[in-house]
Amino acid sequence: MKKYVLLSFDVEEFDMPLEYKQSIDIDEQMDVGIRGLEALMPILSNTSIPTTLFTTANFALRFPTIIKELSQHHEIASHTFYHSSFENKDLLESKLTLESITNKTIVGLRMPRMRKVNLDEVKKAGYLYDSSINPTFIPGRYNNFNLSRTIYHENNLLRLPVSVSPIVRLPLFWLGFKNYPYALFKILCLQSLKKDGYICLYFHPWEFTDLKNYQLPGYAKRIDGKLLMERLERLIDDLSTQGEFSTIRDFLSIKNYIHSIN
Ligand SMILES: [Zn+2]
Repeated sequence: MKKYVLLSFDVEEFDMPLEYKQSIDIDEQMDVGIRGLEALMPILSNTSIPTTLFTTANFALRFPTIIKELSQHHEIASHTFYHSSFENKDLLESKLTLESITNKTIVGLRMPRMRKVNLDEVKKAGYLYDSSINPTFIPGRYNNFNLSRTIYHENNLLRLPVSVSPIVRLPLFWLGFKNYPYALFKILCLQSLKKDGYICLYFHPWEFTDLKNYQLPGYAKRIDGKLLMERLERLIDDLSTQGEFSTIRDFLSIKNYIHSIN
């Protein structure tokens, strides 16, 4: 059976220092975000690596030209309107904003910080899938051990959790990528790929900038910038022999979970 590698990036204003009581104004947040996106261009401009870019409308409005260009080969999905605040009306407003920038239908959602969202509101806004679930236990954030590791329906909405390893559910998210030894991360990816037939990974462009002057915990920046880029390129190389890269929308469409439009 053909296997799929679903790479995703949360394309956003870099507001993480605010969580650690370091002020950073919106211009600087945007600047770090766009520099990260530029650092990723060697990957994003490779048309054989389609990815899904969960983008805040706030970020897309600041850089509409680059988001529109990226929408040619990547899926643009919603990361709501603002990274630092949320109201239910932002679900629809971010979708409409991203649609007017890209001239494509936006079908996917991922909430900032994987926060809980009312699925009726998500459906009402017209999304076809939600990828705001990390089906594991993250101390101080959430405990999703009881949820499915793989695609499931809830309230008639499709939910695509990000990948965790089989059984013990080690999270294969951005923090795992920079904190586990590379060889371990790769083995866990291959195990998930084998068991599930796909793997859904996520990163943030700002991770690929120099973060040393920001007051983030060491585990959030212990590998950043170029070193992290090299690690990602290595992972992409290693995974390219194991499966096909796809946007989430195309993958769900191939698997007949959704009937996709443009
Ligand atoms: Zn985010």
